[in-house]
Amino acid sequence: MKATRSMVLVSGDPESLNRGALDVFSTLQRELANFGLDEEISLTMVSDIHKSGSNPLVLVYPDAVIYGQVSPADVHQIVEEHLYKGRVVAEKQVPPYDLSGKIAWLSSRKGTLPAENRIVLKNVGLIDPESIDDYIINEGYEAIGTILKEMTPEDTINTIKNSGLRGRGGAGFPTGLKWQFVKGAKGDKKYVICNADESEPGTFKDRLVLEGDPHAIIEAMMIAAFAVGADEGYVYIRGEYGLAISRMKKAIQQAHDYGLLGKNIFGTDFSFDIHIHAGAGAYICGEETALIESIEGNRGEPRTRPPYPTTAGLWQKPTLVNNVETLANIPAIIRNGAEWYKSIGTPSSPGTKVYTILGNVNVTGLIEVPMGITLREVISIYAKGMKNGANFKLAQTGGSSGSIIPASLQDTPMDFDSFNKAGVSLGSGALLIASDEVCVLDLAKVLLNFFREESCGKCNPCRIGIKRAFEILTNISEGVATLHDLEDLNMLSDQLYNLSNCGLGQTAGSPLHDILAHFRAEVEAHVKLKVCPAGVCPMSGRRAYQTV
Ligand code: SF4
Repeated sequence: MKATRSMVLVSGDPESLNRGALDVFSTLQRELANFGLDEEISLTMVSDIHKSGSNPLVLVYPDAVIYGQVSPADVHQIVEEHLYKGRVVAEKQVPPYDLSGKIAWLSSRKGTLPAENRIVLKNVGLIDPESIDDYIINEGYEAIGTILKEMTPEDTINTIKNSGLRGRGGAGFPTGLKWQFVKGAKGDKKYVICNADESEPGTFKDRLVLEGDPHAIIEAMMIAAFAVGADEGYVYIRGEYGLAISRMKKAIQQAHDYGLLGKNIFGTDFSFDIHIHAGAGAYICGEETALIESIEGNRGEPRTRPPYPTTAGLWQKPTLVNNVETLANIPAIIRNGAEWYKSIGTPSSPGTKVYTILGNVNVTGLIEVPMGITLREVISIYAKGMKNGANFKLAQTGGSSGSIIPASLQDTPMDFDSFNKAGVSLGSGALLIASDEVCVLDLAKVLLNFFREESCGKCNPCRIGIKRAFEILTNISEGVATLHDLEDLNMLSDQLYNLSNCGLGQTAGSPLHDILAHFRAEVEAHVKLKVCPAGVCPMSGRRAYQTV
């Protein structure tokens, strides 16, 4: 994504639009071009910045200056004085009493750059992924060299523990602790597995790492293997990722040719080799024990835990399973140290997070940003605002298994602990942004239908509960449900969470919980008034399914 010196945001809420925000926006476009600033300053219209008597507002970022009430006649002065000459136009600043905490996010980030910090995607798009030499020139295999020459397995694990890195697959478990469990597990044979079965709908961040920087994953797996005492590894890649598979194969061959994989690497007694295993399209194989079953040649069904893979994983041997994004952080942490890593992100969730932005926004795609950024910042800065000036209604983080997050939580820092406190989950990194044209019932139906298709069927709460929940949602969306059905949905959400064997069933109830907790009025409008406020649901009056 192109970096700009400053960003200018114009409020596009209904009040601002009534007061001429579109004219302010087009005058800004013209004036920025007149001063030759249109390349270095980005301009975006965003909804829901703040409602005050001073709308329309113009926000200059990262200076944290807010102007209001701005008219087209004010624009020339703001562009010439502030954006061209660097002098704040004090008389047009919004009086402090006119601002609420709602835009505190802006002033709290004064002076910080909205540019991306790249650790995971450091090389992606910049080096030739099919050239091991390109990777080596860009600090590649330096970290494993340092490890083998200067560090013990204990040092390596301590560095990862001290960095505070937490698993990026969704759960946020401390990575160094997981490594320590595997190292401490009894066994003459241990494995390292890279979970590259990225199958959350809307997520494609791991694919880009595998396609764009495959040697980084090989190096990270070597470091992990050295630390835990493994000599064999698997990359379990989603079968549809043809290019990623071929690039990983080529990278493994090149690493062999350079003596970086195989026996006695760099003349040490450390030996390690990697195999690739392509998945066959089952979502459940992203669950680590189902993935292990799949590598063993069995049907991809989750195991009952404990024992955990750290003690009894692949062929019942201690096994470390880490996600692609987690591993992609490892070489940089070893090269730069734990303190460097902790300086990025938040104290409890250091580092960056890669997100795939999707939905009703102006710019979709992939970003890597420090942990702790807010949804509001992602939407206004990186996604360049809502499409057609629509209002932001909700976000879904983490693909199908993530939370549905209402607009009221858009200033919550996006890190593991802040999201946990707010009762939502960060998930794996897909960020679906929806406008008020989206019906929450319709969204929940799509999600439950996905889980209904993907449930492996091993346990009843998931196999039957999801089907029943989908039927109830369908009846609500067709205007034939009763308030009693909402209680059943609540009950099913709890039962799925408490009784399912694995994460698929446990998270399948999240959409039910979230729509009832945050969008109850909208759901009840379908039931009591037989109306879909977003105008999406068919309301046929036909009760198509028998519910519980
Ligand atoms: Fe299979 Fe669902 Fe049970 Fe997981 S919760 S084991 S996916 S039936």
